[in-house]
Amino acid sequence: MSALRFHSTRRNSEPVGLVEAIADGLAPDGGLYVPESFPTLGPADLKNCQTMPDVGVRLLHPFFEGGELEGALRSICEHAFGFHIPLAPTADPQVRILELFHGPTAAFKDVGARFLAGCLEYSKKPDDAPLTVLVATSGDTGAAVAGAFEHYPSTNVAILYPAGMISARQQHQLCCWPEHIRSFKVAGTFDDCQRIVKQTFVDEQTTSKLRLTSANSISIARLLPQMVYYAASSLEYWRETGRDAHFIIPAGNLGNSLACIWARHIGLPIGHVALATNANPVLSRYFDAGVWEPGETIPTLASAMDVGNPSNVERLFDLFPAAHEPESRLSARAVSDEQIRDSIVDAWRRLRIAICPHTATAWQLRRWMEDEQPGRDWIVVATAHPAKFERIVEPLVEQSIEVPPALAELLERPVEWQEIAPTLADFRTALLGRGTRKNR
Ligand SMILES: *Cc1c(COP(=O)(O)O)cnc(C)c1O
Repeated sequence: MSALRFHSTRRNSEPVGLVEAIADGLAPDGGLYVPESFPTLGPADLKNCQTMPDVGVRLLHPFFEGGELEGALRSICEHAFGFHIPLAPTADPQVRILELFHGPTAAFKDVGARFLAGCLEYSKKPDDAPLTVLVATSGDTGAAVAGAFEHYPSTNVAILYPAGMISARQQHQLCCWPEHIRSFKVAGTFDDCQRIVKQTFVDEQTTSKLRLTSANSISIARLLPQMVYYAASSLEYWRETGRDAHFIIPAGNLGNSLACIWARHIGLPIGHVALATNANPVLSRYFDAGVWEPGETIPTLASAMDVGNPSNVERLFDLFPAAHEPESRLSARAVSDEQIRDSIVDAWRRLRIAICPHTATAWQLRRWMEDEQPGRDWIVVATAHPAKFERIVEPLVEQSIEVPPALAELLERPVEWQEIAPTLADFRTALLGRGTRKNR
């Protein structure tokens, strides 16, 4: 059995195996890696899978089969899915919440980051030079990646985050790690951070000195495991009701929602996938008017979704190439900051559930659907714990929100970071030299 390969969305570079696709991050032609083919797996194929790691091994095996990491797949899954991901009922029988925030940094990105860290660790060769993981973050990615690599000191991590666009607790979580994990506060936007990362990968002055890899949501090793919680929760719903599960997913760079669309493509019992965005209009405009017009990033209350040019869209267009027609079981709508606030209050009043501002975009869509498609059940995807955004959520629900223990431990650590201008040159100097570190 020859192993499944991954090709670039731009088709201008050679297809590669999984380990190489993970190590590259971005394909050499600047495109994103996608599987050359998808397996077909439905409920019958997964009928003996009861736990999340079981579903993970069964679902991801076709992508690992015949490759270097095949033997490590079970261990990687057991580690990545080592925390609870419940499909929680609510006071409304038509709504369940997929709680993706019980990991170490209290956001869904913990799953992909831990899976990626496991893949990199198991694909190491004894005489490999140390690896440096580059990650641009608009909030939660950096923390999740740092947390995933905390106990792998032979791998260095460099995190770039936009100054002033993330919450104080988010910043704390980006900057509270051991020496091998460094944080760079960029005087710019998330798109600047992403651009610098992309430029660094093709910057010879850097690549001649460091062995680099990516940990952004463009990494195939983050996307693949995200399919697993959609598979497991849709199966759970299907076993109970005999129906397809419809999901509402907060979307920014489109990594989390693309995984759901891939899971459906493979054959899992998933119906409609509704993307909830914040005021950044690129996706909703595309679904309304069919025009793809990436723009400047608009800062919003749901800051981890502040993306003006979602890179994973290349993978979406790759899956649905017909003149980039949005397909009928997919939709997107934008939610304003005012509607986010209003939805946080509404979820608290109706369900007694405190939700984070990102999850609130999804809750707003569900409120619209309630009028437009009465009778349909929805799974609302909760992407972060509300305690990460307490300054927004607490005044609205008029309650203090208990911080989960793992997060509380991080918030007690000291922090440090380096400030840089939004340029490749500044980042390169800081990354290659030790630079000055700022303490607080
Ligand atoms: C990253 C993030 C999102 C957006 O996910 P994408 O994969 O970028 O679409 C939504 N909510 C939270 C809390 C996040 O951290």
